[in-house]
Amino acid sequence: MTTSVPTVFADGLGALLPALRELYRDLHAHPELSLQETRTAGVVAARLRAQSGWEVTEGVGGTGVVGVLRNGDGPTLLLRADMDGLPVLEATGLPYASVDRATDPDGNDVPVMHACGHDMHITCLLGVAALLAGQRDAWRGTVVAVFQPAEETAEGARKMLDDGFAERFPKPDVCLAQHVGPFPTGVVLTRPGALMAASDSYRVRLFGRGGHGSSPETTVDPVVMAAAVVMRLQTVVSREIGASQAAVVTVGAIHAGTKENIIPDEAELKLNIRSVDPVVREKVLAAVDRIVRAEVAASGAPKEPEITPLNAFPLTVNTVDATATTIDGLRGALGEDAVLTLPQPLNGSEDFGLFGTELGAPSVFWHFGGADRAAFGGIDPADLATHGFPAGLPMNHSPLFAPLQDPTIELGVRAMLGAALTWLDGGE
Ligand code: ZN
Ligand code: ZN
Repeated sequence: MTTSVPTVFADGLGALLPALRELYRDLHAHPELSLQETRTAGVVAARLRAQSGWEVTEGVGGTGVVGVLRNGDGPTLLLRADMDGLPVLEATGLPYASVDRATDPDGNDVPVMHACGHDMHITCLLGVAALLAGQRDAWRGTVVAVFQPAEETAEGARKMLDDGFAERFPKPDVCLAQHVGPFPTGVVLTRPGALMAASDSYRVRLFGRGGHGSSPETTVDPVVMAAAVVMRLQTVVSREIGASQAAVVTVGAIHAGTKENIIPDEAELKLNIRSVDPVVREKVLAAVDRIVRAEVAASGAPKEPEITPLNAFPLTVNTVDATATTIDGLRGALGEDAVLTLPQPLNGSEDFGLFGTELGAPSVFWHFGGADRAAFGGIDPADLATHGFPAGLPMNHSPLFAPLQDPTIELGVRAMLGAALTWLDGGE
């Protein structure tokens, strides 16, 4: 069923917008690092409790907040927003720019910024929560609003699920989430099937035997070993993965030694692997493991390498038929031309997919635009995928990333509400 956002909700949203703008500026000015979202969680919980009907649970998986709104028989929806900021020094010059600082997990004093737009996600979901609570005659079902910590470090969804999520909260029939990005406002991008890449990161320690630089024959040189590993890893994608398939293997860090005439004892590599197909992912991970171990053996190393996972984002996969239903809702809320189907998955990553896979529910994720349409010149949004982004447009994680407050808040609320209403039963 295609529904435009019913008038009762549209009127409610108009009245709510000034408060949502104020909320957004407050959240933007006070970002918090992953797993430190205590102030944010407090704001979220207070806003939910201020609306009648929401049962609010705090401290889920650390700083997570879950609201449940039961409104008669009908489908159960899980709507998710992430809450964390990033260690980035904000350079937007906005009047509500963050000047906050925090202590990162390594004890460093760092600037903090909502450089990924998670403040927008919180604002939009709280807007939807207020509208659903205020118009309970207009729908039937149960809504579970999930405010998740630590998306940026791929820890938050896992922590909430491991905190008894499935036993403590109603089982969803579908999970929905959205992300703001540097697309023109009013545009939504999604696709059925794989939407975003899986990302796997590892630290690899290679052990040699150190000694004097003048006598390499008495040593096992971990620098040469590391160099061989790095070069051989380049063959994983080029020689082992088919031309029509996609994967990335990046060695983003390499460290060994202190001085030119000392052969060190060990070398350390940090790897990031991206893939958009579970079979390809397994193949790449197995090849990386095989190559690291084989090069270590080839070098005659005294010890096996140490391969430690740093973080892992799952593949974000949109359930095919649930995507079609959700797109109906998004089109109803934003217009027929607003929703663009991406020709291929994006290379970014998300941990939202864990909710659907762990709770056994279909899930749908989409991106929505927060950038000034004027920045795109004459480019038709429908051609975005082929044109790419205008040069200089700040992307997520940039110190200059600044979604427009208006109309992004309103459109983000409309998108999530429209998608939710397509799934919920109608009221009397
Ligand atoms: Zn991010
Ligand atoms: Zn993000």
